[in-house]
Amino acid sequence: MTNKLLQGFKLFRKNAYEGKSASMPRLVSEGQSPEYFIISCIDSRSNPGTIFSPEPGTFFAHKAMGAIVRPYKKGTALAAALQFALIHNKVKEIVVLGHTGCGAIQAMVEKIDDEEISSFLDVAKVGLEKAKTSCNGVCTHNELLRHTEEEIVLLSVENLKSYPSVASALSENRVIIRPWLFDMESGELLQHDDNFKQFVPLTMNTKKKKS
Ligand SMILES: [Zn+2]
Repeated sequence: MTNKLLQGFKLFRKNAYEGKSASMPRLVSEGQSPEYFIISCIDSRSNPGTIFSPEPGTFFAHKAMGAIVRPYKKGTALAAALQFALIHNKVKEIVVLGHTGCGAIQAMVEKIDDEEISSFLDVAKVGLEKAKTSCNGVCTHNELLRHTEEEIVLLSVENLKSYPSVASALSENRVIIRPWLFDMESGELLQHDDNFKQFVPLTMNTKKKKS
């Protein structure tokens, strides 16, 4: 059952522990000092450990359905992790990584009949309301999904600022927050541009078909 995991682990071990460029022995003896903290969806296709091809020690990771960051509440897993990353470590950038085709966002838009899931998704429903407003009643269902995916990233970024560890790091210019969206269909990574008020590509997929 777990063969795929064990095969992958053997490959990781070969790369990370053997040879001159192996990084794990050094990271174990010297400790870690990641520069990034990535908040992403639980979706298996937008896993930062996959899509950024990271070396061990590159980033701290936190996952939640839809990459949703709820407003600050003392004692949550995310509050403790951010405290550790920003106060006891030297993280310089926080990435909120949403993605297109997100099942969590779809569940929110289509009002999934599951109380356990909906009670979490509800903390971000203001993002859905904003998307509906910007659609002005003329969007297709798919367009509403995309707008909601984008609004949830922006809402999560705003909610992050309510965490004391983030607020103090921001006030001391020690951290930058990146609102990112992984477009799974086109294979592009986008970042929200405050000037253009929209998500713009950070990368261009050179293998995209020419039209
Ligand atoms: Zn998702």
